[in-house]
Amino acid sequence: MDYRALVEQYGSPLYVYDFDVIEKNYNSIKNAFKARKSLIAYAVKANSNLSVLKHLAQLGSGADCVSIGEIKRALLAGIPNYKIIFSGVGKRDDELEEALQKDILFINVESEAELMRLEQIAKSLGKVARVSIRVNPNIDPKTHPYISTGLSENKFGIAIEDAKRLYLYIKKSPFLEAVGIHFHIGSQLTELEPIKEASQIVAELLRSLQKIEIDIKFFDVGGGLGIVYKDEKTIEPYDYAQAILASLKGTDVTVICEPGRFIVGNAGVFLTRVLYEKKSGDRRFVIVDGAMNDLLRPSLYNAYHEIEVVGKDEPKSKADVVGPVCESGDFFAKDRLLPLTEHGDILVVKSAGAYGFVMASNYNTRPRPAEVAVQNGKSRLIRERESFEYIIEKEVRFLV
Ligand SMILES: *Cc1c(COP(=O)(O)O)cnc(C)c1O
Repeated sequence: MDYRALVEQYGSPLYVYDFDVIEKNYNSIKNAFKARKSLIAYAVKANSNLSVLKHLAQLGSGADCVSIGEIKRALLAGIPNYKIIFSGVGKRDDELEEALQKDILFINVESEAELMRLEQIAKSLGKVARVSIRVNPNIDPKTHPYISTGLSENKFGIAIEDAKRLYLYIKKSPFLEAVGIHFHIGSQLTELEPIKEASQIVAELLRSLQKIEIDIKFFDVGGGLGIVYKDEKTIEPYDYAQAILASLKGTDVTVICEPGRFIVGNAGVFLTRVLYEKKSGDRRFVIVDGAMNDLLRPSLYNAYHEIEVVGKDEPKSKADVVGPVCESGDFFAKDRLLPLTEHGDILVVKSAGAYGFVMASNYNTRPRPAEVAVQNGKSRLIRERESFEYIIEKEVRFLV
């Protein structure tokens, strides 16, 4: 890919997504589940650009959404309502109401209180809410310390012991229908074992529900499949699917998988231009025109992203790559071996397709970057760079 030409055409900083890679990733996870009925419900929060969603819609993808805004995006992009799931630990009344009116596939319920609320709302609308309960398989995080999100945190899901009682409650309610069972044990997973264990635990609950004639159609295994940022060993989609399917022997549920990062993460790069180099003591800084407001992951998670300088290789010395924002946390890399750069050089920050643009803000009154799609060797703009006028639009009329 000619990054220099892209920056010359669309400006800097810039997000670029390779739609062919998105397609390849989508197909690899879809094919991994081909032994069974499945729905890939792309996790919209990873990258919610409408053109990305439309591309996935055309491939047959569904959507896992965590706000009514994401549901509206998915619908606008052409993902049909019967492939849309509404997840998240805190949903407002108006969001639940609208989701019911839009008749989406189901709502993932994460607490008893939410279930009661949803029942009331469904009743007031004269509707039946299709639900799935997000259970917390509570795999000891000590045996699996690589799951950084922590599995038994109370915020996520409902304990297995309580889930059965709630399913019985749903069965008796005229306004609720149990159609699914859901778990999601974390993000950037690189080990198979916890997924296998979680799947077995939840499949056991599924069987015990089927025994008491609670007919679950969807087994929703969440997302979380990890990608390579640096040198991680990751899980092959095939092995991932096999681990899940093995736990489902003798059942005929449809598997739903909600990958986000896996589909878009390595399909995207963030391009930023070098402003200057600077020395402070014996520390070398490469100051670029992109910043933490554009790509937050390094600042927020201390995340590692590979960085290349277009057209330059050797010699290398260690440098911090930093942005212009007035925060010491504004960096893309620390102590990174990089060639000497000069004004105008282009840095390619890799693996930036997931949780990149979606986390961008206008901090320091910086317009959010443009987004570009590359497909079949051709590029096209899919989101315009913001303008100063756009940023101030919601406040300027209040100037008195
Ligand atoms: C965030 C999230 C996902 C996607 O996670 P990835 O790590 O991007 O695959 C899927 N399902 C739920 C419920 C989530 O919260």
